[in-house]
Amino acid sequence: MPTRMKPTVLVVGGGFAGRATVRALDDYGEKVRVVYVDEKPFFEFTPSILRCIVQPQRLDSITFDHDETENRRFALGRVTLITPSEATVERREGNRVTFISVPYDYCVWATGVSFSEPIRSSQAYNEPCTIHKRSSELERYRTKCMVANEILIVGGGPIGVELCAELVALTKSQENARITLGCSPRGLLPRLPDKASKFAEDWLSRKAVRIVRSRLFPCGVDDEGKFKYTSESDPSFVVIADVVFDCTGAKSNGASDALIVGGVVDEKYLRRDGSIDIRDTLQTWDMPHFFVAGDAAHVDGELDLDRFACEKTAYAAEEAGKLAALNVVRLMQGERLVSAQSTAMKCYPVNAFPFGQFPRLFVISLYKYDGILCLGPLVICGKLPALTKFLIEFLGVESAKWNGFWAFIFRSLEYITYLLAYLFQILLTSPRRPAMH
Ligand SMILES: Cc1cc2nc3c(=O)[nH]c(=O)nc-3n(C[C@H](O)[C@H](O)[C@H](O)COP(=O)(O)OP(=O)(O)OC[C@H]3O[C@@H](n4cnc5c(N)ncnc54)[C@H](O)[C@@H]3O)c2cc1C
Repeated sequence: MPTRMKPTVLVVGGGFAGRATVRALDDYGEKVRVVYVDEKPFFEFTPSILRCIVQPQRLDSITFDHDETENRRFALGRVTLITPSEATVERREGNRVTFISVPYDYCVWATGVSFSEPIRSSQAYNEPCTIHKRSSELERYRTKCMVANEILIVGGGPIGVELCAELVALTKSQENARITLGCSPRGLLPRLPDKASKFAEDWLSRKAVRIVRSRLFPCGVDDEGKFKYTSESDPSFVVIADVVFDCTGAKSNGASDALIVGGVVDEKYLRRDGSIDIRDTLQTWDMPHFFVAGDAAHVDGELDLDRFACEKTAYAAEEAGKLAALNVVRLMQGERLVSAQSTAMKCYPVNAFPFGQFPRLFVISLYKYDGILCLGPLVICGKLPALTKFLIEFLGVESAKWNGFWAFIFRSLEYITYLLAYLFQILLTSPRRPAMH
């Protein structure tokens, strides 16, 4: 079919979900034309960004530029307004602002959510953020930490713990530097098994990290411009920090406002973290040709951890991206759409393997040489998880680049892991034979 007669699928966001959608739509190149938009010209492997705060030069190995083919076009800029048939892409370069209109037939919205700086770049919107600028941004944080007397990390989940371990390594030669980690009264990694929390707490305590089991919140700035934080349970406790990292979770990146102003989504479907309530086919409630995938999506029941054991993860985002692509094509062809319930998308990694539900997989690094691997109730601590994390980074980046060979190896290893976990679970849960007399 000539290009101008093919329907256009607009993919907004070139992260895990957006790239998986674009990759899956490549297989339908004769049926659709794809335009994908991102405010950054490059892909960043977010799970490895924390180490880059300590070693900004590593950014090169976890980033790469978005590319184009004849059938797949990339537009750099931020979608600031989207109506049911057209998107406005805004691009800023210094004081110059340009707008492009992109008409579309189907849209997959995959804009993710945000985390505080520098976990997510603060520059992307104001000026296209090149890999070099992103690296300078991380370098600035590194320098601040190198001269800081007090570094405060607020949030004791996986991101806070991993970042803390990285900063311990960065500041180990500074005698006066102290790191404080504020976590919930339930301790570190509260959603993981006790063994994982204990290992993280022992590891960080051995490195002289001060762990405060209380919610900390800002209470002003002192005369020298340092940040003051106090504790919810003890207002007399004050931390005065040179650098603060907010690791308390996802925040809205404001992208969804474009949908509400443009009349694509009603405000009642917008959640506090900026994600959007959608159908289990990933369609928005009112616009069947408009899909939402990845962290930007919220499917009802998703947070029911006991039932679905799901998290907002890169893996789930990729599965959602593939499902969105499949459903776009099915909708175009007048076929029945596939529900996320019947795919691996919602539940990491439920249904990823034919035997049914599998436990959640988490790998948390404690700098380069230690880590924690949780596969449901199974917890492995030490060098093996650190090696696993390293492998995940290498294979994850290569898969995101659509390197078929490494993507195949990655998927195969994942499935082998689930199979082993399944066998392990059977062994653990099978009734013991009665002793012979
Ligand atoms: C520090 C950290 C560690 C993590 N570790 C892990 C891990 O070990 N394993 C794991 O599975 N998951 C991990 N995650 C979670 C994982 O990174 C996310 O679940 C994943 O990035 C979600 O993918 P996404 O495509 O939905 O969104 P994103 O990856 O956030 O991509 C969204 C893209 O949309 C672009 N965008 C946003 N708004 C607009 C707009 N208006 N116009 C144009 N473009 C726009 C952004 O620039 C971005 O490129 C981690 C997250 C963090 C922050």
